[in-house]
Amino acid sequence: MTQSDHLIRLFIPEASTRVHAVQLQGSWRQIQSLHPDEPAPAHHLLGEMAAASCLLSASLKYEGSVTLQIHGDGPIRLAVAECNAQMGLRGTIKRAQDAQIAPTASQRDLINCSGLGRFSLILDPMQPHQKPYQGIVSFVGDTLSEAIESYMAQSEQLQSRLWLFCKGEAAAGLLLQQMPHEGGHCGSTPDARQEGWNRLSMLAQTLTASELLEEDLLSVMNKLFWNESVRLLDERSPRFHCPCTRARVGRMLTTLGVEEVTSILSEQPSVSVTCDFCNTPYSFDAVDCARLFNDPLPTEQSTLPGPQTPQ
Ligand SMILES: [Zn+2]
Repeated sequence: MTQSDHLIRLFIPEASTRVHAVQLQGSWRQIQSLHPDEPAPAHHLLGEMAAASCLLSASLKYEGSVTLQIHGDGPIRLAVAECNAQMGLRGTIKRAQDAQIAPTASQRDLINCSGLGRFSLILDPMQPHQKPYQGIVSFVGDTLSEAIESYMAQSEQLQSRLWLFCKGEAAAGLLLQQMPHEGGHCGSTPDARQEGWNRLSMLAQTLTASELLEEDLLSVMNKLFWNESVRLLDERSPRFHCPCTRARVGRMLTTLGVEEVTSILSEQPSVSVTCDFCNTPYSFDAVDCARLFNDPLPTEQSTLPGPQTPQ
């Protein structure tokens, strides 16, 4: 288990509460290095989204992937973070053309300056018989963590608290979720569970960004919940992973339609597509494109479209 990219899940029976904590270093550095021209506030947002996507993927009741997408109304038009069931993580961010971002810009300034920002969460169970679930909501609150908390309160009706941090080369997060049915066997009363929940929320509130970003994650959790009876559920290692392939990009091109692709080919010798997540270039000449439309490749299961853009 590497300490630099580390996710742990704990259960605190008395409060019937699950604790998910994540610390990203290597994987976050890689995402950041693939978007080197973005200013610090944009990196900050993307780092928090990466941490949140890991926490949400780990909190699903099934093995599945989570895609967080923000469609902003300010200088950031699109930001995406994806974490699959194996904790493979990728992210991308796009600015509006010529948009400038002040070094002190808040998350509201970046993505919700006119109150028109939208936030969507795609949960993909990665099972052939189960369809991905997508929820799209307005961006509520001033920060990403507030928007996700508000979304979870509406959709899951579980008490949830989320803290997200990103600074320089590290991103981290902590998610508390009260489980309504798991505490029954331990004999705690509803009052004791609520009291426990309030106590854990207050403890988590005392956590500083530098503790969660820089210190050993398990030690931080032990220190924070030293007086609680804590069960370690599991530990995992998030890592950077982009599942883009030539076949997937080819399928994306066919969705543009034969007229659009022919029109691009009338102006240039090939259609070039660069993966927005990992910057891998793909090129399709006239022969490749004819083959795409005449001899489509078999579809793979569960291929959520990425925001690749033909150029
Ligand atoms: Zn890629």
